[in-house]
Amino acid sequence: SRIPLIAGNWKMNLDHLQATHLVQKLDWVLRDASHAYDEVEVAVFPPFTHLRSVETLIQADQLEIMLGAQDLSQHASGAHTGDISGPMLAKLGCEYVIIGHSERREQHQETDALVNLKVKAALAANLAPVICVGESLATREAGEHIAFVTRQVDEALEGIEASRLGRAVIAYEPVWAIGTGAVASAEDAQEVCAEIRQRVAHTHGQELADGMRILYGGSVKPASIAELMDKEDVDGALVGGASLTAEEFAQIIRFRS
Ligand code: 13P
Repeated sequence: SRIPLIAGNWKMNLDHLQATHLVQKLDWVLRDASHAYDEVEVAVFPPFTHLRSVETLIQADQLEIMLGAQDLSQHASGAHTGDISGPMLAKLGCEYVIIGHSERREQHQETDALVNLKVKAALAANLAPVICVGESLATREAGEHIAFVTRQVDEALEGIEASRLGRAVIAYEPVWAIGTGAVASAEDAQEVCAEIRQRVAHTHGQELADGMRILYGGSVKPASIAELMDKEDVDGALVGGASLTAEEFAQIIRFRS
């Protein structure tokens, strides 16, 4: 009953012309294959500077591709030079916002406490947060990945009522699998996604947990997606590198064919 979500995180890539071309081509390829957007949802996450161009294209051509941003400020407005707020993103037609990607945790020292504030800021702006969690290789080798990831989930959702989290998404992205070509096995992805769902059920109730989409991310390619999506608790993918070419991303979206 959970509608799969295939999300493309472009990271800091493409210029605004390449961005609109990619979205246009993606839609052509998908329409050509008679893709049912209501059966597998598609979202793209361009850099901030390309959101307006992509939104204009989506509006003009009435595309069913959803739009999201890669980060937001924990504040709604004010003296925060260089930051972008939730209300600004909502006005640009964003439906989603990625929060706590491991690259932001590492390169911008984002803590679980900040991730929690950003989740609250997203919800206040009526954006669906895509909350990223995932362990390092050292944590996995120490056998502590479940404890680590469930604690990240706890802290991200701390103090937020279940009734507000209906559209929230969690993305399990093990750091060792991101950009390395070392995709997690479907069994490993399933194990952690199932533990995340159990944890959400424990803290926020079974109903929220049953409806919540939990994605896997980390070196997802056309060759690996079908096996991942076969798993009960994997409800989609957050795709980096392979979302930058229309054909490859479309193949991932069309994992059923
Ligand atoms: P890659 O698919 O390039 O490994 O990136 C995954 C990711 O970080 C998506 O957010």
